Amino acid sequence: MKCIHCEEEARAVCKFCGHAVCKEHIQQGRFVSGYTTPGHWLSRTANAVSVDDAVWCGLCHPEYQITS
Ligand SMILES: [Zn+2]
Ligand SMILES: [Zn+2]
Repeated sequence: MKCIHCEEEARAVCKFCGHAVCKEHIQQGRFVSGYTTPGHWLSRTANAVSVDDAVWCGLCHPEYQITS
């Protein structure tokens, strides 16, 4: 499986959407709402995303997966 960002072989899969990502493009660590560019993400702080060591592709919007 290839990284969604480049042509490197993927090393992990996004926890939220399943996209494959290589070690260069993986987004990992404590993931909280507003971790990246704020905006509509912060409109739902009551259901803030908080996932430790989650693998994220950097493209999708995890809140849609976590909150329902
Ligand atoms: Zn990559
Ligand atoms: Zn994703």
